[in-house]
Amino acid sequence: MKTFNYNSLSPERIEALIKRPKMDFASVFGRVQPILDAVEERGDEAIRTYTKKFDGIDLDSVTIDPSVADVSLDAEAKEAIDRAMSNIFRFHREQGTSRIDVETMDGVVCSRVARPIERVGLYIPGGTAPLPSTAMMLGVPAMIAGCKTIVIATPPDQNGNIPASILYVAKKVGAQTVVKAGGAQAIAGMAFGTETIPKVDKIFGPGNQYVTAAKMLLQNSEAMVAIDMPAGPSEVLVVADASTDPEFIAADLLSQAEHGSDSQAVLVITDDADLEAIHNATVKQLNALPRKGYAADALEKSFILTVENTIQAMEFSNRYAPEHLIISTEDAEELSEEVVNAGSVFIGRWTPESMGDYASGTNHTLPTYGYARMYSGVSLHSYQKFITMQKISEDGLRSLGPVVETLAEIEGLQGHKNAVSIRLNKLSKAMR
Ligand code: NAD
Repeated sequence: MKTFNYNSLSPERIEALIKRPKMDFASVFGRVQPILDAVEERGDEAIRTYTKKFDGIDLDSVTIDPSVADVSLDAEAKEAIDRAMSNIFRFHREQGTSRIDVETMDGVVCSRVARPIERVGLYIPGGTAPLPSTAMMLGVPAMIAGCKTIVIATPPDQNGNIPASILYVAKKVGAQTVVKAGGAQAIAGMAFGTETIPKVDKIFGPGNQYVTAAKMLLQNSEAMVAIDMPAGPSEVLVVADASTDPEFIAADLLSQAEHGSDSQAVLVITDDADLEAIHNATVKQLNALPRKGYAADALEKSFILTVENTIQAMEFSNRYAPEHLIISTEDAEELSEEVVNAGSVFIGRWTPESMGDYASGTNHTLPTYGYARMYSGVSLHSYQKFITMQKISEDGLRSLGPVVETLAEIEGLQGHKNAVSIRLNKLSKAMR
């Protein structure tokens, strides 16, 4: 991995390190738009055509109903999924916000209530491996929020089937439909609806460039669909000092790098650390990984930054705004107070990212590409709308009405003023 020293870098060079590798969406948009148009026009038939073209599968049916599907999964896998889902359930259930009622002045009551988004579509990437963990992360909060329609889409396996682990989760979260397709065609199917896929109001989930481009195009289209967040390749930033075990650092960098060749792993470490030991541990562990090819490619694009102290490390981390931040230093707990920009934080040497990726309870669908500066990861709120309400009494109208009349007058909106004045006149006549 390329190594830089923070104090010897120019501001421009630091800025360049913070920027992610450029994503060229212009050409992908050009390829994805015809797929979206075809699915809008021809529905299931277009989904079958693209699934044949890109995945090499002849679909017998485009969807299945998970509630009646036969799921054969071994007991150990079921137990692991059950445990993880229970932790995710507990953490997300606590995110529920109770109704807010505030009497802003006598007789003027303003309220805010949460309601579920009724129909949601969850995309579970599956091009290189099935990801039941993503099904849990997206499905559990949808279930807690009370979304009426839950549609899950994921690419089929080589036999045209949905992996049993994903079907198991789909059943547990009460999904009505599983779409046996991936890529832009699956996203379009959920956004527009087809003969067999219910139309959804919001689409969640990570995916490759075609999936991301489809989500970006559809959220600005007449499909009337929202998306969870912009997504780019997955990334981690590890903050470490001389006390951190080089084997832990290597393992944390590699667990990110193995996701795909476009993943980014960054190590920010105090300059008294043993970089050679970290290099040796990384090479040794890399050579033993089945997904060595992806990991090696990703490490090529990653870097190490040496810093004077851990405060300087956090300064850089906040500017980088990583999707995952691992703080593996002696002062990890204190340092976590300094976090301003990050998707999810892993504190201390016994907290590898994998724990949150799978089972601690936090969500693993997080903002990448620096979007952690302004976006949050998926949470219960992502599945809800917050509706405001107000109720005003006669006294409330009497005291606040004249204020509204004046403001409407300033804005030249006579109709707004009239809606208040007519009522105030009725009230004063009734008093006489
Ligand atoms: P995917 O499910 O996103 O995409 C596979 C689909 O892409 C296929 O079903 C196919 O229909 C379509 N496709 C393939 N080639 C195409 C082409 N030439 N034109 C149009 N469509 C085509 O699976 P993937 O490809 O393995 O990508 C997974 C992505 O998800 C990776 O980028 C990974 O980093 C990301 N990911 C992110 C997270 C996260 O939480 N941030 C988690 C898991 C995966």
